[in-house]
Amino acid sequence: MDNKATQSNFIRNIIIDDLKSGKHKEIITRFPPEPNGYLHIGHAKSIVLNFDLADEFNGKTNLRFDDTNPVKEDTEYVEAIKEDVQWLGYQWDGLYFASDFFEEMYNWAVKLIKKGKAYVCDLSAEQIRATRGTLKEPGQESPYRNRSIEENLDLFERMRKGEFKDGEKVLRAKIDMASPNLNMRDPVLYRIAHATHHNTGDKWCIYPMYDYAHPLEDAVEGVTHSICTLEFEDHRPLYDWVINECETESQPRQYEFARLNMTNTVMSKRYLKLLVDEKVVDGWDDPRMPTVSGLRRRGYTPEAIRNFVREIGVAKSNSIVDAQMLDHFAREDLKLKAPRTMGVVRPLKVVITNYPEGQVEWLEAEINPENPEMGIRQIPFSREIYVEQDDFVENPPPKYHRLFPGNEVRLKHAYFIKCNEVIKDAAGNVVEIRCTYDPATKSGSDFTERKVKGTIHWVEAGQALPAEFRLYEPLILDEDKEEGENFLDNLNPNSLEILQGFVEPNMKEAKPQDKFQFFRHGYFNVDPKLSTQEKPVFNLIVSLKSSFKIKD
Ligand code: ATP
Ligand code: MG
Repeated sequence: MDNKATQSNFIRNIIIDDLKSGKHKEIITRFPPEPNGYLHIGHAKSIVLNFDLADEFNGKTNLRFDDTNPVKEDTEYVEAIKEDVQWLGYQWDGLYFASDFFEEMYNWAVKLIKKGKAYVCDLSAEQIRATRGTLKEPGQESPYRNRSIEENLDLFERMRKGEFKDGEKVLRAKIDMASPNLNMRDPVLYRIAHATHHNTGDKWCIYPMYDYAHPLEDAVEGVTHSICTLEFEDHRPLYDWVINECETESQPRQYEFARLNMTNTVMSKRYLKLLVDEKVVDGWDDPRMPTVSGLRRRGYTPEAIRNFVREIGVAKSNSIVDAQMLDHFAREDLKLKAPRTMGVVRPLKVVITNYPEGQVEWLEAEINPENPEMGIRQIPFSREIYVEQDDFVENPPPKYHRLFPGNEVRLKHAYFIKCNEVIKDAAGNVVEIRCTYDPATKSGSDFTERKVKGTIHWVEAGQALPAEFRLYEPLILDEDKEEGENFLDNLNPNSLEILQGFVEPNMKEAKPQDKFQFFRHGYFNVDPKLSTQEKPVFNLIVSLKSSFKIKD
């Protein structure tokens, strides 16, 4: 279920005004990832915002790969990004690569040179930085600033032809070295990079900078509202300068909103890539990663992610969202969809001594009490079952109502059992407990003579299917240091716990990405990479709201 709609926000209000005033007949937005990594939940925020706005006003949204930096980009990322956008539930109108427009961008640069608005500069990157000035001090003009138009045209063409080495020359905009906005102090528009590009191969050895390429890409595609994050607010004058000076036919405008930040979550591709490269995680889609592919493998649904990012809204100032809010939306979505079942993650054998040997009976239970239409499931019951090790103690603390010698509990969907005997190994560990059951207490009967305070889950031993459970905690421990340089020192050593247990036999039918609610444990997803039919592997998506330990 989607809470789609029409939460008001300042960008939406601008769009409403632009349509009303006739400034635009149709709005076009775009989602412009750089294909230098996998998408993360912050990108999901941008995707939902861009696509939802266009959808609401019958506009269009393009998927555009902002691929102007050959060294870091790769086709693997292009394919992964497409898959993730579609999985989130969106289909783009146009599919573009910035690199498809390198020729047009080059021609615009030539136009700027001819207008006296751009020049070739021989200063090194370091010298450019050193002469840029500060917020208090103006920058110094480059000694190459007043080259003639002819010389600039000649040098720029030779840059393109490959006559110079990386870093030897750049093309700079000729704006104002004393501008209070540092981005306007003759920013670099083109740099030399002798590198093979994932799309254009070795055709180019000069590449446009983001601030020059982005507005032009928007203009070529006819984007009306170019939405980006707040860091680009100070770049907007340059965006407008490029649009004005290149005299593009269409006049896109840039709007900024606050990026999504989440507690205990690294969200920059640079750091996520470090986790992958250092093998801290099992690839970009490790279920602990905040990537869209990681969230998918963990078991979060597109609906939960969409509802989460919509709920946060669109703000003009940065803040940090509690990651538990995403979990809330995951539970909300799965509550009605996920079949209920039982699984034992740390098994303890129970023998029910007064239950006939060799007998198996089939008990019935609703697949989802919150959604009766899902029907009924059959659960086998016999003399031997597994319960959770945590649900038995030999010497109970006060108010402990689960299994201990002499105590009676309810087995969910089955009978009351009473613990009579504890079997230990030579080391004194409990390896089995012996109980008796009361046939009169069968679940669904109108037995009222006695009550028990504890209800526990179980799996019938004879037909139980072995299963692996993967329990997760946040990967990052200290939220303040998450983006710090040595954040690898701040990882949670307990972010993954692997347990071997048992599930109901009908789990043989479970397919990759199927989701279940294990009674008292939480919501789990069948891992698409590790699971087999003989042995499913379940990823914990979220625990139940009431924590795993049932209230006694
Ligand atoms: P990162 O720093 O994680 O690499 P990026 O901004 O460099 O992110 P891009 O691929 O350039 O990544 O981003 C594509 C789009 O997604 C941009 O419009 C960007 O503003 C948006 N975006 C990226 N991160 C977030 C975030 N945390 N919240 C909202 N939008 C985001
Ligand atoms: Mg980027």
